Order: sequence, then structure tokens, then C-alpha cells
Amino acid sequence: MDLNTMLGMPGDALRVTRAEWRRSIARVIQEAFAFHYQRNEGYRAQCDLVRVCPRDIVGDIDLHRIPLLPAVLFKQVAARAVLTTNLADIEIEVRSAGSGGVPSVSPRDATTVTRASVGVFGSFRDFFDLSNGAGLFLCSSKPGVAGVHMPKAFDLFACTLDDFSFAPHNRPFDIRDALTQLRSWEGARNRHLIGTPLAISRLMKVLELESIRMDLGPQALIIMFGSRHQYTRYLGTRDEFNDEAWRLLGVERCRIRDVYGMAESTMVAIECEHQRKHVPPWCYASIRDVANPAIEIEPGRTGAIAILDALNAASPGFLLSDDVGEVDESDCPCGRKGQTLTVRGTHDVAQYGRAVASRRIIGGGRRWR
Ligand SMILES: [Zn+2]
Repeated sequence: MDLNTMLGMPGDALRVTRAEWRRSIARVIQEAFAFHYQRNEGYRAQCDLVRVCPRDIVGDIDLHRIPLLPAVLFKQVAARAVLTTNLADIEIEVRSAGSGGVPSVSPRDATTVTRASVGVFGSFRDFFDLSNGAGLFLCSSKPGVAGVHMPKAFDLFACTLDDFSFAPHNRPFDIRDALTQLRSWEGARNRHLIGTPLAISRLMKVLELESIRMDLGPQALIIMFGSRHQYTRYLGTRDEFNDEAWRLLGVERCRIRDVYGMAESTMVAIECEHQRKHVPPWCYASIRDVANPAIEIEPGRTGAIAILDALNAASPGFLLSDDVGEVDESDCPCGRKGQTLTVRGTHDVAQYGRAVASRRIIGGGRRWR
């Protein structure tokens, strides 16, 4: 399957046979690597240094050899230094607070924005099966803080709904507006809550304190954007969260979905009803040894998460992220193939060595098998 077919029908692309998935992912990532190798002088020079060129990438077992850009290269203006496209062609710069409080910037050109919008929209349709209903978006009203790239995803998500409303969740959280809005849709539309894990937890805490129980109904979805692992000390475990959502909002665990993404990459991994985060068909997640990120480690073992993303035309979409986790290549009961990702948190650069913090491109990798 080629990239445009995947982007147009991500649900179909996730339901091919495992052999077809391996062929397709190797093909689209290899083509993306060749695209950036030919057009990006700085990146090509780094690839030449570690003696890897597009001809070396034949099958999925070669993907680990593609040189990676460490996330630190996307901190502020440094991101412009790794561009494949011209600065004049940049349409938007996606920003986030980033780990360690240093903002990350990901410049995107028109091709990248179009591909990401189409692919993410199709993925939302596939995972959430929505074409109507009403959504309450719990969001921070302060621009420039963590999760600022989320409104773009919010906009795409809003397109799948009949009605939506925004409720800022800054302290003090005025729950009356949120409740009035939710009640106004009762009986007329399926109701969904969308927001960061922190915002949704805050709503549930206020419901608890005020002894209010809502039943959003069997079709309701709770969709969470933003990094849950940054807030574990406020949020408790996911099981506790699921229990509270059932008790206070009447939403079943299979209707609670987390969406994982990062500003530096266009990759969005969405949870299915089995709460496994599926890597989109145009991305490959490669887990790296945290002490030596040139080494790819096997599925099931925890390491630094690298994402190889075929849709990014603005800069090489081959990122070694600041997050740690595991990849799973077993078939999911939902029927989707490919990989699923478990994110454990952000790794401590001081603990895991200088390689990850280095501004050098990481290449010439070895593989576990
Ligand atoms: Zn699944």
C-alpha cells in the first residue's frame, strides 16, 4: 500500500495482513528516507557519516538503520536547522511546552499539514466511529502553555460532531457552565468529553465534591489528548481513572480513549476499545536502548521511543523522542494490525546518558535480532 492510500483510508491500512503491513511500512518509510536524503544536505551529510543511504533500506528489518534526529533538535529555533523544505514554505509551527520546560517547535509545510490533517481525521473516524453527537472540550484558555498543539486536533475532531462547546478548566474551575452545557444536550445528542487527562480529572473531582453524578449514556466517549504520564502524581492510575469515570459519568472503560502524540512528530497513536494505542500505518515505532539509542531493542522491552514517520515532508520525520515505553507487535483483538505503543513516561536524560541529549543525529543502528 502506498502513502496516499494509507492516509486516505487509515482504517483499511490497519487491517491488512501482517505480511502486507511489513511490506507497506518498509516501502513508505524507505521512500520518505530517500526524499529527505536527496533534498536535505545536512541530513544527508550525517547519513553519509554513518554510511547509510536509501539503498540500504530494503525491508522492515532495515528500518532501524535510518538515522534519527534527537528531540533536542526541535527545541525552539534549532528546529529550522533540520528543515528539508525552504523556510518560506513553512505554513505553521506546531509548539508545545516540551519536556524540561523548553518549548519544542515543529515547522510544517503545506504537504505535511494536508497529509497530517487527512490522516488524523480518517483515524478519528476509524477509532471513534463518530459522525454526530456533541462534544464538550475541556481546554486551557491560556495559549502558550502545554498542549498548545492540541487545538488543531480539537478542530479536526470537532468536524465529526454536530455540536460542540469549549469549557476552560483553569482554576477556579466553574463547573456550572460545563454542567449546563452537558445537560442542554441530554436526550437530544450523544455527549462526549474531550480534553487533557488533567482537565477531565478536575471535572470528575468537582462532581465528586459536589455529590453530582451524571450518566452520559452508553454512546458517550471520553477522549484524552495530552501526556498523561506528566501528571501521574495528580491523576492516580488509569484503572482508578476508569473507575471514577464509570461511577461519576457513567462511561465504560472501553469508551475511554487516550490519544498519544508529541509536538515534534505528526504521529498520533489512538487507543482502541481494548485500550491499546495503535501506531498509524504510515509510522514505525522503534524502541531504543536508553544507554545507546543506536541499538533497537525487541518488542516488550522498555526503552526510548523513536518514531519513523513517512508523512513529514518538512523535515526528516525520524525522531528519537524524550519518552520511554514499549512496542507490541502482537495482533490486537480489535482486528487492527501493525504496532501498539505503551508510554511509560519521559526519561531522565541525566540518568540515561549523554547520547540522547546529544545534538548529533543517531545512526548506524544495530538490531536485536
Ligand atoms: Zn486494538
